[in-house]
Amino acid sequence: MAISFDDIPGVEWEPGAGEFITVDPELCIGCANCVKVCLGGCYEIVRKKAVIRSLDKCMECGACWYVCDNEAISFSWPPGGTGFRTKWG
Ligand code: SF4
Ligand code: SF4
Repeated sequence: MAISFDDIPGVEWEPGAGEFITVDPELCIGCANCVKVCLGGCYEIVRKKAVIRSLDKCMECGACWYVCDNEAISFSWPPGGTGFRTKWG
């Protein structure tokens, strides 16, 4: 059974807003490193290029940016933040 954040008491999801991560298709070589490391499932490969499917589950970890050897990913912090918040801090 899949567990979502809605099922965990005291945990609230804060979705990302705006295009705070972008991919330059001219620099992307389709290696899929970003797809493999993204725990939010934000990326997919379409016609041998990475595209952002959705940033709704992005946790601002920066892993996609870190593993992109071709510097095809531009990363910036979203206004207000994104990710999950717990009532415990
Ligand atoms: S890690 Fe970089 S080069 Fe590789 S698919 Fe993702 S955006 Fe493209
Ligand atoms: S910052 Fe982390 S969660 Fe967000 S798109 Fe990149 S790898 Fe995925």
